[in-house]
Amino acid sequence: MFPGTGLVTSSDTNCQNWTPGFNPRAVSKAHQPPFRNSKTGQMLENWQQVCPVCFENFNSTEAGDRHRIGTFGVDRRCARPDEVGLIPLPNKYRTLVWRSTNGS
Ligand SMILES: [Zn+2]
Repeated sequence: MFPGTGLVTSSDTNCQNWTPGFNPRAVSKAHQPPFRNSKTGQMLENWQQVCPVCFENFNSTEAGDRHRIGTFGVDRRCARPDEVGLIPLPNKYRTLVWRSTNGS
């Protein structure tokens, strides 16, 4: 990595605590069922988010946070997702979900 420093990172060392057959995705949210937007009834993947204020669907907490503008306790509010650079894409249930252009 950094020639001359003597610091050589071995990927074997990094993986020595890895449990064979362990799939980190399987223990995150992937075991949870899909759910519905409580207002619109649209089907959402378990990791997706519904804004409790405007009930728009977001692909991640990060994407949802981007449409919340203003200052906490002062004028905190929802922006239109397209105005903050989010793009609407359908999920596998054909529900339109706002997501960042980086995919989250
Ligand atoms: Zn909102």
